[in-house]
Amino acid sequence: MSSRNTRPDKDKLNQIVAEARRDREAREKTYRERALKIYPWICARCEREFEGKRLRELTVHHKDHNHDNNPPDGSNWELLCLYCHDNEHSKYLDEEWYDGPTPGGEQEPPSTYRPFAGLEALLKPKKKK
Ligand SMILES: [Zn+2]
Ligand SMILES: [Zn+2]
Repeated sequence: MSSRNTRPDKDKLNQIVAEARRDREAREKTYRERALKIYPWICARCEREFEGKRLRELTVHHKDHNHDNNPPDGSNWELLCLYCHDNEHSKYLDEEWYDGPTPGGEQEPPSTYRPFAGLEALLKPKKKK
């Protein structure tokens, strides 16, 4: 008469994990949707505009890097494109590692730049066809 109803807990665990994941995905989806309602669809860094299919490239960044901090007024959110979002996080990491300015920020002037190239062409006598 002993009730041997002990099913492996693995099933239950899997179910809990699946539920938690679904929960998180649902929450992420809603805060993204909420952020998209509050803010214009523009990357806060590079100021590119997004619409239609490309809207997927626009992501929600958490200013304090805490994804659980989602105040209803959106004050912890920033809309960033994938590229700038990546940048934002690597910048954050860099700041933890370095105190000074990050190396590799210098830009070489393009060596092929010839300011008078167009002028030269204008001064050349035109060939008759
Ligand atoms: Zn951007
Ligand atoms: Zn972020």
